[in-house]
Amino acid sequence: MKMIRILLPFVVSLLVACDGNESQDVRPVANLLLVNGDVVTVDAALPRAKAVAIEGNRILAIGTNEEMSKYRGDDTEFIDLHGQMVIPGFIEGHGHYTSFGGSLMILDFRYARSFAEIVSMVAAAAAETPPGEWIVGRGWHQDKWETREEVLVEGLPVHNSLSDATPAHPVMLVHTSGHAVFVNQRAMTLVEIDSNTRPPDGGEIVLDENGQPTGMMREAAQDIFRIAYSGHQGRRPAGVAEAELRRMITLAGEESLRHGITSFQDLGTTFAEVDLLKTMADEGNLPVRLYMALEEQAADMAGRLDVYRMVGYGNNFLTVRSIGEKVLDGALGTHGGWLLEPYADMPRSYGLNVVPIEEIEASAELAIAHDYQMAIQGIGDRAYRELLDIYEAEFAKHPDKTDLRWRIEHAQVIHPDDVSRTVELGVIPAVQGIFACSDGPWVDERLGEERTRERGYIFNTLAEAGLVPTNGTDPPVDEISPIDSFHCSVTRRLPDGTLFQPQEVYSRDRALYSYTMGNAIAAFEEDIKGSITPGKLADITVLSQNLLTISDDTLLDTEVVMTIVGGRIRYRDGEIVR
Ligand SMILES: [Zn+2]
Repeated sequence: MKMIRILLPFVVSLLVACDGNESQDVRPVANLLLVNGDVVTVDAALPRAKAVAIEGNRILAIGTNEEMSKYRGDDTEFIDLHGQMVIPGFIEGHGHYTSFGGSLMILDFRYARSFAEIVSMVAAAAAETPPGEWIVGRGWHQDKWETREEVLVEGLPVHNSLSDATPAHPVMLVHTSGHAVFVNQRAMTLVEIDSNTRPPDGGEIVLDENGQPTGMMREAAQDIFRIAYSGHQGRRPAGVAEAELRRMITLAGEESLRHGITSFQDLGTTFAEVDLLKTMADEGNLPVRLYMALEEQAADMAGRLDVYRMVGYGNNFLTVRSIGEKVLDGALGTHGGWLLEPYADMPRSYGLNVVPIEEIEASAELAIAHDYQMAIQGIGDRAYRELLDIYEAEFAKHPDKTDLRWRIEHAQVIHPDDVSRTVELGVIPAVQGIFACSDGPWVDERLGEERTRERGYIFNTLAEAGLVPTNGTDPPVDEISPIDSFHCSVTRRLPDGTLFQPQEVYSRDRALYSYTMGNAIAAFEEDIKGSITPGKLADITVLSQNLLTISDDTLLDTEVVMTIVGGRIRYRDGEIVR
């Protein structure tokens, strides 16, 4: 039985190819038939079609409505798409799956328009949370508030209204920058901070005119609360922590489905997380397919890599065959990206080497010995070059190993000399289109105009050189939105309308390829994903309009209509289908 299921797609594609020469033998019946679609397959063999037939978890056939109608049986679910666009499911090429799920569980204040609104959101959460549990939120910024509180200290409100609304819960609200938290009285009582507390070195406890803490804790002062919070979380019974992790995994998956994402590449998981993911894969409870990169110390990985390496586990829902994202350097925005020449706006600094070279080398040695891919962050051009050097040395030691596809994550600044080296080494710069637009407003300042033009976010130059185009939004760093990243990839238009490095736009076709086939190749999955091809997994996304033909101005209006994973409709018309 199993044999027949595997072979059928090939038999069928042969039949379809033999135009008109139809066999009277058993014809497979589709479970799901999508017709009247504007199907863009990302498969050069048959780039466009009208209809897709799906059998089980695989694509059975593609073609015209008429051709596909012969696969319709009594139990076939038949969907008329009225011309909507059908594409291979989006693959998020770089994100942080569980922390993305976690970010969906805490309060999000990015769109809050006043402190009062934040207080009422916290109060609502408190009403549903057992007393004594922490309430945590993120993303507030006082400059976004339209109304001001009566009492302000250094432009910020004081904690009283928040504390009055939440007497039984410690509350910690993280500023957008991540450099400060705002807390309530209960949290301050818990860590014994009052008017007499001396701030820690490098930290600031903001005080009002009477010397009382306002609730605002800057830099090192915020660590007191973060430590208290994680201590509390760590002391909970194991079952509670596992239930929470399960919830993060489910939420991250469902949010991915809402955005048309059927596969998610995670850059930085732990052995413990993989254990739970494996259990959930066994149960059939993973909403999307996961490609996980381990982020553990080389010394801890040595004896376990063979046990944890898995490809296509649980019906192709879980793969672990990568090591990442250890960060070789920091972020450009905070002058952390490691550069070959100093920052234009901070001439004393070349940025930071975060994880020591020796640790990356040790991981690389393990990776090559155990058939793992390396996927390490290199944002600045120095970090990028160091990684090429490490990879090249490792490849030279193991000439027998081929097709390794080691990756450099983000690759935001690349010296022109290193582009051809990347091609020669078969390395994949795993870039995220959206970063050109989220960073665009300040990159010139960091790098200077000339260096930006030559080396900054040169994503199309990389593709033109023959490198695999990739894409993603690094959730939860940026919004998980392939449409946003697609839009930035093809326009480079910043929120204020100016263009950032417009010579580096992807064509529409390339942008779609990057989010499907390109990302599949970066994970060795081009045989089962990345295009709508008979025999491949039936991972398909339906969009409200054609991304390849609509105007730049209307791209962002595109909506995800349906997300299909392995032949099952998992999201449709705004609802998750369970
Ligand atoms: Zn990342």
